[in-house]
Amino acid sequence: MSESNSALAVTGARRPARRVAFTLIELLVVIAIIAILAGLLLPALARAKMKVGVTRCLSNLKQLQLAWLMYPDDNTDVLVKNWIVDKRAWVDGTVDVGSGSPGMTNLTVIRNGTLYPYNTSTEIYRCPNDPPEKLGGKFVIRVRTVSMNGRMGGADPQDGSLYKPAPIDTSWVQDPRAKEFPPNKKTLDIKRPPPARANVFVHEHPKTIEDGYFAVKGFQNIWQNIPASTHGNGDTLSFADGHVEYWRWLEPETAKRKTWDEPGKKPVDRDLIRFQKATSDPDS
Ligand SMILES: [Zn+2]
Repeated sequence: MSESNSALAVTGARRPARRVAFTLIELLVVIAIIAILAGLLLPALARAKMKVGVTRCLSNLKQLQLAWLMYPDDNTDVLVKNWIVDKRAWVDGTVDVGSGSPGMTNLTVIRNGTLYPYNTSTEIYRCPNDPPEKLGGKFVIRVRTVSMNGRMGGADPQDGSLYKPAPIDTSWVQDPRAKEFPPNKKTLDIKRPPPARANVFVHEHPKTIEDGYFAVKGFQNIWQNIPASTHGNGDTLSFADGHVEYWRWLEPETAKRKTWDEPGKKPVDRDLIRFQKATSDPDS
């Protein structure tokens, strides 16, 4: 073996030894790259998951809305009743955690509702994304997370004179202009706002959902009930012409609301005004 051959042999013997494994630095670089890629991808995955949730929720609202539209066809144009804890209403019973919750896990309450014959899926009454709630020491799925805007099919003193037992009068919610904006009782009553802008169903916040009535104060800076913020910074709604929408909140406070009768943001709460305009709109 010449001297140059010997040098090659030595070099050749070293090369494989250097290639059999990564160095610690190389491994750390690979791990760092994977971490960076995961960091970039995870928010995108979370957004995609959120969009799927919104789509499924809107699909449920759409089916409920179609059932709501079919009801007046069979009932001389009269809207399904949105009376509070009343067997003649679209849905009876409450689903809140606090008051014994006869309706929270009870599907019979939905099946006994006057809207149920128009779509016999109980699943459309809830948002698939709503988290389980603690009840009696264990976690349960609430059977209904959707409520109906109180102006649609609500009850006023006139109903009290027509129906026995009298339903609970909810016309005061539009105070001080309750007389100008009485509950819509027939399809033809829906004018201010018109059907394309008149809210019917809404995915309600788990902290205020109880009866099926979603109360939007007409002319005061107060949130009586609050919408859910399960789907990121916004919520799902349906309208009297049959379409559904996702509303992204304009005020950072809206998604943080947690209870009944909270004052709206001052001086102007754009999200509350949007709900009010979709309930009783003096400008239409
Ligand atoms: Zn939802």
